[in-house]
Amino acid sequence: MVPGTFRDEKRFERYLVPLALLFFFFLPSNLFSSQSSTAKSCMVVTANSHATRAAFEILQDRGNAVDAAIAAQWVLNIVEPQSSGIGGGGFFLYYEAATKRIYTFDGRETAPQEVYPEIFLEGQDQPVPFKPNRITGGRPVGVPGTLALLQEVHERFGTKRFSFSGLLNPAIEIAERGFPVSKRLAYFLNQEKERLALFEASRGIFLKKDGSPYREGEILLQKDIAKTFRLIQQQGMRVFYEGEIAEAIVQAVRNSPVNPGLMKREDLAHYHAVERMPVHGRYRNYDVFSMGPPSSGGVTLIEILNILENFQLDLLGRTPNGVHVFLEAQKLAFEDRNEFLGDPDFVEIPIAELLSKPFAEKKTQEINYQTAVPTGREGIRTLMLEPANTTHLSIVDGWGNMVSFTSTIEEIFGSAMVVPGYGFVLNNELTDFDAEPTARRTDRTAPQDQAPDRRSFKRRHRMTKRSSAAEPTGAESKKSGTILKPNAPEGGKRPRSSMTPTFVFNGGKPVLVLGSPGGSAIIGTVLNLIVNLLDFGMPATEAMKLDRMIHRGEEVELESALFRNQELKRELMRRGHRVMEKEAIGNAQMIYFDPEENIWVGVSDPRGEGEALGR
Ligand code: GLU
Repeated sequence: MVPGTFRDEKRFERYLVPLALLFFFFLPSNLFSSQSSTAKSCMVVTANSHATRAAFEILQDRGNAVDAAIAAQWVLNIVEPQSSGIGGGGFFLYYEAATKRIYTFDGRETAPQEVYPEIFLEGQDQPVPFKPNRITGGRPVGVPGTLALLQEVHERFGTKRFSFSGLLNPAIEIAERGFPVSKRLAYFLNQEKERLALFEASRGIFLKKDGSPYREGEILLQKDIAKTFRLIQQQGMRVFYEGEIAEAIVQAVRNSPVNPGLMKREDLAHYHAVERMPVHGRYRNYDVFSMGPPSSGGVTLIEILNILENFQLDLLGRTPNGVHVFLEAQKLAFEDRNEFLGDPDFVEIPIAELLSKPFAEKKTQEINYQTAVPTGREGIRTLMLEPANTTHLSIVDGWGNMVSFTSTIEEIFGSAMVVPGYGFVLNNELTDFDAEPTARRTDRTAPQDQAPDRRSFKRRHRMTKRSSAAEPTGAESKKSGTILKPNAPEGGKRPRSSMTPTFVFNGGKPVLVLGSPGGSAIIGTVLNLIVNLLDFGMPATEAMKLDRMIHRGEEVELESALFRNQELKRELMRRGHRVMEKEAIGNAQMIYFDPEENIWVGVSDPRGEGEALGR
């Protein structure tokens, strides 16, 4: 017999099957990962190889993009526990090829009813310091939305070849067998070890017996979350929002050893994912569809694109003038984001005006090649310390359906609190509210010169069929001469997000599926990609690699290669920009349709460790 061959099936099974499983589960993920891939029929791009492969298998087995996205999200919960999961929320875009319709779903976390505007103030009305105080423990935890969101999209659009509970299986398998900690996870475990150590349940899972964090390549087991997923398989979603898991969440939040929170069983029982209208913009020959409020992502992205449309970016390129207008457009749109955007069930948002071309034309007139518009002028500015976190996945299936899904637990490892016995991390999404809830009234010209009364928060809770049944608190600004900011904390409200899951079409045909993590840097990340591809005509992999430049209203942030360009930096500073270096901005996951080759090009951001896989 030739050495190494297996004579009979029994021996084959005894050796080869376990070897194959070992290969599948224990090989470092970056060994198989391919950050870009092309395909004729379908494509999956996620931030982690395990999740990409789980989703791809569902597609191979004739599941659709929605089925695949659900399986991938649960796997991401296990292999990227720092970024997203059942303890968090997200925004889901779906394109249904058969009807050519786009649906958007809001699974954003919701503030418990007892939350009040000053919740993140202390002493003399000073915001609680962001890190680690505000972000850690029970107080910043919002009612999680990811499970309700995925159940909703499965019911509406899943093929039903896979039951909702069956789609948890790939994640359960990895959680129970363990997987080798990736470089990125090891980095974040080390970075957050002190916060994780504050909570016994978090220590028990993410730190070793001696208190040190798991290192790259070491095997991380997560039996408790496997148990949670099995409970959901047996009892359905109710066990999470109304049953024993709801009770465990409430206990964890209210009895948190640091920063106890205000969540009650009713808050969980009332949670609903909400179908929202997508926001739409026209950019040159393209149609851009993205997530509307409570995410600020879509509206801000489209306002920026509307401004940029008034410039010939393809001719300006990355010259100082080109870079200057690219940054100024972002800065101007961010001012409006901070002033007008919040939860649409609480705040009247002039969306049509913000998305309109005449409004963008007025903004364009403010841009001058010699001098940057000063930052810190009147208007509500918010300096949000949002870290590079969260996760995005993009999927196209063989029928042409598409999913663009961004999900989060906000900070890296969210509140750092694992629900004892249930193994999942709770979000700290309420820190996306403005900690300083009020602002002085300003007479800054509003869209259409109408200066709307921004205090007229029309409580429109019952206007959307599935919106939260919770009652508004009726909280008012107590300080005279001030208004409550649209993104002030309030009971039952959803904090403003920046997540920007997006689709781009040309003549009704899909061109792009994309999104990224990165807090409020998400918007600029998606923008950089759109401009690189559609204005500069770069190949998808180059567009993804190119150093990013963003402006969130305070200063210019440049990735390193651009920052090292002394001439550009000098030129920007001469015009009044403050310039900062950023090592990496975003971790985008994108699918581009190449019309010349007639193929899908999947590209996972080289700044991360994801994988693109297609067929
Ligand atoms: N919580 C952020 C948002 O909803 C995302 C967090 C991040 O990407 O770091 O905008």
